[in-house]
Amino acid sequence: MNAKELYYKVFDLIEKHHKWFKSSIPLIASENIQSPAVREAIVSDFGNRYAEGWPGERVYAGCIYIDEVEIICNELAKKVFKSEFADCRATSGVVANLAIYSAFSNPGDYMLAASIPSGGHISHGKKEHSGTAGLVHGLNIEHYPFSKEDMTIDVDATKKKITEMISNNKKPTIAMFGGSLFLFPHPVKELASFMHDNNIYVNYDGAHVAGLIAGGEFQDPLREGSDSMTMSSHKTLWGPQGGIIVAFEKYADNIKKSIFPGTTSSHHLHHVAGKTIALAESLEFGKEYAKQVIRNAKTLAESLANFGFTVLGEKRGYTESHQLAVDVSKFGDGGTIEKELEKANIILNRQLLPGDIKSGKHYMHPSGVRIGVPEVTRLGMKESEMKEIASFIKQIVIDKTDTARVGKDVSKFREQFQKLQYVFENSTDAYEYIRIRTLNVKISI
Ligand SMILES: *Cc1c(COP(=O)(O)O)cnc(C)c1O
Repeated sequence: MNAKELYYKVFDLIEKHHKWFKSSIPLIASENIQSPAVREAIVSDFGNRYAEGWPGERVYAGCIYIDEVEIICNELAKKVFKSEFADCRATSGVVANLAIYSAFSNPGDYMLAASIPSGGHISHGKKEHSGTAGLVHGLNIEHYPFSKEDMTIDVDATKKKITEMISNNKKPTIAMFGGSLFLFPHPVKELASFMHDNNIYVNYDGAHVAGLIAGGEFQDPLREGSDSMTMSSHKTLWGPQGGIIVAFEKYADNIKKSIFPGTTSSHHLHHVAGKTIALAESLEFGKEYAKQVIRNAKTLAESLANFGFTVLGEKRGYTESHQLAVDVSKFGDGGTIEKELEKANIILNRQLLPGDIKSGKHYMHPSGVRIGVPEVTRLGMKESEMKEIASFIKQIVIDKTDTARVGKDVSKFREQFQKLQYVFENSTDAYEYIRIRTLNVKISI
């Protein structure tokens, strides 16, 4: 294909993607969908500009309006997360974490974090797994003792581990809470003062749960003893892809320097504009949304358990967040089941579960799947729809019904959910493809 054909092909692929998502059930726990307002902000000219530095202290000219927006962004983040300081410039959650490592530790230091099967994220990971903390900042990682039954960090065993690390000359410099498989709050309240007494900096990675925390649900890390909180701006928080850091004022200078010049030059100003709009929406609608997300996750978990699925965290009511984890090993492996569900327009991801690495399982074929409800909740779905979704999943995974047949029913089910909820304006459909280049002319190849 020549350049022009490829050019049209790309737009054709993007339009197909929109059409597919419009008729699918999107259940990836780390994803959400932006409001039409956020979409408008991110196609603005802001995305063409540079604004290195802090509002009012830029290295570039042309930032008069950009500065005002970024100031509003930081003010809204402070309000939403009840923090003394906010920096909305991190270009992703990984960059936000890297900035915290840079601000509060040196290469060769030790960090405590959750292992991947216990929910930890690659950005907390060891050098030998190419994890950001180890590979990029040279940290040594030790894992929290984790209780599979309670699906959270084991408090007493962690205190013991810290004491041992100290006596072995391996005192952690940073303790990282939070994760990607994240069903129940982490014990920040129970551990932070012990950590502070031992001079350990505490960060909470709220990448997944920021939108729940914004709504006053799940947990409140800064009140529970966390020194800072890093997050992605696009998971349960419904902004454009990016990162945010909130913290106590005494850490502001260190964090600001670690973001610029430490880890960013361009800080994607269109996304700063989008984050600002998303935070305004969160301030207005975040509470109602977070409550419904958690109700939906619980209902979906219960419905799947009723169909015979092994849903993790049963003892504690399956989940208190936006996601649930299902051990599907009775019916196949997580990777194969992910593919089968995708054929039926149900989009979720396979998941390593606690114990998987020890039993020799690979991340391509782990024993679990992870299911998240942030996006379907944004589309207005409630408890009764969760029961229908559970039934679609059962038809594929347990009954082995023909994927094309279920896929058709899924698309039909989706027809009535085309407008976003929890927004100031929703006249544009959620997945509507917006053409800018040639208005109202359909060109095909
Ligand atoms: C998704 C995630 C991140 C990474 O965020 P990006 O914005 O994708 O860079 C960091 N930490 C946790 C726990 C995550 O789940």
